[in-house]
Amino acid sequence: MYDPRSMAADDFIDDGEIRETLEWASANKDNRALIESILDKAELRKGLSHREASVLLECTIPDLNERIYKLANEIKNDFYGNRIVMFAPLYLSNYCVNGCVYCPYHAKNKHIPRRKLTQGEIAAEVEALQDIGHKRLAIEAGEDPVNNPIEYILESIKTIYSVKHRNGAIRRVNVNIAATTVENYRALKEAGIGTYILFQETYNKESYLKLHPTGPKHDYDYHTEAMDRAMEGGIDDVGLGVLFGLELYRYEFAGILMHAEHLEAVHGVGPHTISVPRVKRADDINPDDFDNGIDDETFLKIIACIRIAVPYTGMIISTRESKSVRERALHLGISQISGGSKTSVGGYAEDEEEDTSQFEVSDQRPLDEVVRWLIDMGYTPSFCTACYREGRTGDRFMALCKSQQIQNCCLPNALMTLKEYLIDYASPETKEKGDAMIAREIETIPNDKVREIVRERIGLIEKGERDFRF
Ligand code: SAM
Repeated sequence: MYDPRSMAADDFIDDGEIRETLEWASANKDNRALIESILDKAELRKGLSHREASVLLECTIPDLNERIYKLANEIKNDFYGNRIVMFAPLYLSNYCVNGCVYCPYHAKNKHIPRRKLTQGEIAAEVEALQDIGHKRLAIEAGEDPVNNPIEYILESIKTIYSVKHRNGAIRRVNVNIAATTVENYRALKEAGIGTYILFQETYNKESYLKLHPTGPKHDYDYHTEAMDRAMEGGIDDVGLGVLFGLELYRYEFAGILMHAEHLEAVHGVGPHTISVPRVKRADDINPDDFDNGIDDETFLKIIACIRIAVPYTGMIISTRESKSVRERALHLGISQISGGSKTSVGGYAEDEEEDTSQFEVSDQRPLDEVVRWLIDMGYTPSFCTACYREGRTGDRFMALCKSQQIQNCCLPNALMTLKEYLIDYASPETKEKGDAMIAREIETIPNDKVREIVRERIGLIEKGERDFRF
């Protein structure tokens, strides 16, 4: 029975509730009065329920769809300004005991070489990432208790934080590893991780069981309840996601919002981020084998509707998507993107001889080009990692976001970290454009005192100081 406060996956992601939601949304897809009333509520910027948001996703009335896109853009600007946070994935190991049918790392795939980085190789990857300019990583690993035990992940995090190469430093490590125990989540928290990210892949239990036929990931309940264990272990920034293409997107959309509602109801804080990956071609994987692929228009509408439904949740898009799709998605609510990514084990430091990549990357531009492209569109690339280092996680971050004080805090941090990037890593063209942007953006900091401090600190960064933050 549907109960967002229950700790049982079958209750907070209740199949009956999702099916009723979809029926109701479909029956009302051209109900102008209802859709307008939902949009009026959304204008208050306090979010929508999964039922309300599902009606917006279904809406077939052109002028109301325009209103949805416009509102998504406005909400993004209100809560996140024009900043886009930058990150890169770091693949540690592709050893995996699971049988996920969409993933090339599945245990039965004998074509790909299996590889796990040594601590020395991790340090080399981190130096290469620092040389590009990254400050924030998401580490990725297959699930393999023998090859990639939690001790290996913890040691790797320590290595990553310890590498100080030239002016570089990785200041935030987010972690995307398989569902684990409260004890292990506690250890990850103690290791100083930022967000714990785990994609649900699909919220449809029946499909989930078929798509994950073997290995520990087959356990739908254990996987779906992972975020509750992470929170019990003290991690209060968690990142949700589904892999679009596996199941009906409407089902996933309602499911992910119900998951967010559950976290809010039980822990008092919703997800820190939502990711929106789509299945990609990979070794042994043909995305056409999955029946539920979504076109770009549907994909963009999902992004806009998530933005409206959970205004305080960051939204992440990776290099799985092309430059043009990413460009459109940025206007509809994305707040975090990867750039210059390699999805293979050892891909940053080495010329790839053996291909261990997890999936094909659509946006292959180097980070400098991505940064310049953002600036050209009027977005401020941010290498900020301040919040969790200042203890602003979970509900403390949400409070900051809700009060819209982010302009006096996040914008300054974005400008100062962009300045570091421009001096240490940017091409002359990017530097020129970035400096002009910083000069413009400083003027928009609302608080006089903060504005003055930022000016002063930008001067100190030019003289060689680093790592200022509010
Ligand atoms: N092994 C961990 C787990 O099972 O949760 C996480 C790491 S895995 C490297 C990260 C994510 O990549 C998965 O959660 C899945 O959504 C995504 N992924 C797997 N195969 C993919 C494909 N063919 N195309 C796009 N994304 C894929």
